[in-house]
Amino acid sequence: MNFDLKEEHGMIRDMCRDFSREVIAPRAEEIERTWEYPYDIIAQMADLGMMGIPIEAEYGGSGGDWVGMHLCIEEVSRGDVTLGALLDVTTSVVAQELDVFGTEEQKEKWLIPIARGEKIGAFGLTEPDAGSDAGSVRTSAVAEADGWVINGTKQFITNIGLDNASLIVITAVTKKARKGRGRISTFIVPKDSPGFSLGKRYEKLGWHGAATHEVIFDDCRIPRDNLLGDPAKGFAQHLAVLQTGRISIAAMSVGVAQACLDESLRYAKERVQFGKPIGSFQAVQFKLADLSVAIELARNQYLKAAWLKDQGRKHTFEAATAKLFASEMAEKAASDAVQIHGGYGYMAEYPVSRYYKAAKVLQIVEGTSEVMRIVLSRELGL
Ligand SMILES: Cc1cc2nc3c(=O)[nH]c(=O)nc-3n(C[C@H](O)[C@H](O)[C@H](O)COP(=O)(O)OP(=O)(O)OC[C@H]3O[C@@H](n4cnc5c(N)ncnc54)[C@H](O)[C@@H]3O)c2cc1C
Repeated sequence: MNFDLKEEHGMIRDMCRDFSREVIAPRAEEIERTWEYPYDIIAQMADLGMMGIPIEAEYGGSGGDWVGMHLCIEEVSRGDVTLGALLDVTTSVVAQELDVFGTEEQKEKWLIPIARGEKIGAFGLTEPDAGSDAGSVRTSAVAEADGWVINGTKQFITNIGLDNASLIVITAVTKKARKGRGRISTFIVPKDSPGFSLGKRYEKLGWHGAATHEVIFDDCRIPRDNLLGDPAKGFAQHLAVLQTGRISIAAMSVGVAQACLDESLRYAKERVQFGKPIGSFQAVQFKLADLSVAIELARNQYLKAAWLKDQGRKHTFEAATAKLFASEMAEKAASDAVQIHGGYGYMAEYPVSRYYKAAKVLQIVEGTSEVMRIVLSRELGL
């Protein structure tokens, strides 16, 4: 067993860490305050090849792997978790789904610009009545002579509000069943399709740098060729790539928690009370020591899950444990970081107040903590 990162992984981590520290982190407070999406930073991330790390060069990527991708997601999230979310959705979910299930033509047309970072992808599973029970979608797709007609609403959709978002990959019912779920298929819906519109932009607690919108399909027409993969297996396809999304959320969580540790360590050395830096009090030291333990364990577990994926091996248990442990850890890390900062930690100009708002949603997106426990119970044979 070898715990050293390969040379190329170390290079990706260092490059992303430097970029995150020098370019992303200094802008994070402004992004959160203004709700303005940082198109210039996204363009630089594309230039550095971040969106295409695990995609083959012939489809616009750099032919790396999922360990490299997730090291990048962690480092980017350390600067601003919403840009980690952009990578998660664009690469781990959408690019992968196009790569694994797309035809040659679909990859040429849709995957290449996304892997190059010229265009951004979104995925649409959640609906007003289909959240954790994602198989109960109501959005429908009906085959007509010249294409598919889609009707329905998707909600809480990340990335779709960006000007350079080109498409959303959605699930829709293509055959109703008298009993049960019916047939769910997956479709590529370009943003400029007739009948496609963006609904409201959500006023969120945090994550203001993520362009989260409702999406409405009103007799939305797409070509026949935009069916993605096997029409009978659309739901399974979506769930397969969401498993990688869980590893990505774990990496984002570690990035947020690491940022909490960075800020808290700095503050604990600087802030003086009772004539001493607060970092000399054991109560503060132990919080930081515990945080360093939790970060190390969560990082090891997301890397193990990503490594298993790169080996083509089953990683349901590892992806779910990484997501559950890391997201719960990040929420506690953010709470402890605010506590260490005292009243200042609650003020908007202190980064830990942003981390506190950012961490909560990691326990919800791409499968809640409860859903992770359901997955793990199944893995235990229950
Ligand atoms: C900022 C943000 C971005 C998002 N981005 C996207 C996106 O890009 N694309 C997308 O498709 N979706 C997206 N989502 C949606 C997200 O994946 C869902 O919110 C999540 O899956 C939970 O669904 P829900 O909100 O409907 O909650 P519900 O499913 O209604 O759950 C409510 C509560 O009940 C619990 N619960 C539900 N069923 C069970 C059960 N069987 N056993 C025990 N507990 C249960 C849940 O764990 C939760 O605590 C986003 C959400 C947010 C907040």
